[in-house]
Amino acid sequence: MTTAAIVAAAGSGERLGAGVPKALVRLGDQTLLQLSVAVMRDAGVDVVVVTAPASSVAEFTALVPGAVVVAGGETRQDSVRAGLSSLRDEVDVVLVHDAARALVPIEVVHRVLTALGDGAEAVVPVVALADTVKEVTLTGDVVRTIDRTSLRAVQTPQGFRRSVLERAHAGGMAAATDDAALVEALGVTVTTVEGSAEAMKVTTPMDLEVAAGILARRRARV
Ligand code: C5P
Repeated sequence: MTTAAIVAAAGSGERLGAGVPKALVRLGDQTLLQLSVAVMRDAGVDVVVVTAPASSVAEFTALVPGAVVVAGGETRQDSVRAGLSSLRDEVDVVLVHDAARALVPIEVVHRVLTALGDGAEAVVPVVALADTVKEVTLTGDVVRTIDRTSLRAVQTPQGFRRSVLERAHAGGMAAATDDAALVEALGVTVTTVEGSAEAMKVTTPMDLEVAAGILARRRARV
């Protein structure tokens, strides 16, 4: 199995309001980008491809020597497609990871890779929901309460046989918020493995504080 990780890092990070692309925001002494690339490498991924904002390719390249940095697109889906088209022929398994989930524990990456090694075509890490979930109308009135026992929040890295992911991205489905949704649209089974609260996506300034806390606790343990 030759594995590649596409680290999606071409987002602007407007909701974080840091004034730089989100992947360049620092957590401790490293950027979200560097932390995300490092965990993919530590997990034994053979090739790391990073999608960067088109104007920041050189800056990103300097931060992650050894990774292939390509210009991303307008949407996350466009960026992942750009990363996919840069892969060498021998790559047969692809992980897609959000740079914003910089603190994903290596065990989660291993679980995804193991499921692929065991023959899964598509794998996503998931966590159960703590909150009760309700469907509401456009004006905010509750329509119904959804049974949360069958619901999961989905994280990254998501793992795929390369051929499946390529077919999914060629499928032309608009506006999917993750790669697995494109694969589901093909009718391919997507397997789940256990994710982790620490794989939270840094989106808002409060998320950054939470992530800093996770990192400080990890470093205190070593
Ligand atoms: O915006 P959101 O947080 O959902 O983005 C998830 C990940 O996708 C981020 O790591 C972001 O950098 C990346 N992304 C991308 N290209 C885009 C938009 C987002 O690579 N055009």
